[in-house]
Amino acid sequence: MKTNTLRKALPGFRWRGVDVRPYKADGEAPFRDVTRQVLFDDAAHASQLRYFEIGANGWSTLERHHHTHAVMILRGSGRCLVGDEVFDVAAHDLVTVPPLTWHQFRAAPDEPLGFLCMVNAERDRPQLPAADDLRQLRELPGVAEFLEPPIR
Ligand code: MN
Repeated sequence: MKTNTLRKALPGFRWRGVDVRPYKADGEAPFRDVTRQVLFDDAAHASQLRYFEIGANGWSTLERHHHTHAVMILRGSGRCLVGDEVFDVAAHDLVTVPPLTWHQFRAAPDEPLGFLCMVNAERDRPQLPAADDLRQLRELPGVAEFLEPPIR
């Protein structure tokens, strides 16, 4: 049997043989309290499946890129901004992030938010919002409040 045929689930949303890695390199982009586990990454697929976990009150980077995300919430609850809308999300909800669409996930104050995220194996680097982009986002209903505390 190939070693990766079965990776047993471990307590706490971990998987045997899968490292818990930093979300991004320090200083690469603003975020708070996020880890990354790469669950499937095989040349046989054009995609990767990752598990991200955002600690209570934490948030992922506000970013956009040409590649898309297919997200399934696995644990906890929180909110996400996708495009010009803020959504409440909880376990087993599905979120689609289209190309070049601003997005950010934020965990609820009292529990982590964990989700699966499928992406193209080959993908462009995320773009960060310029001051003008942030100003436009904050003018949308509910978005200024969503973006507090300030992301930069
Ligand atoms: Mn992204």
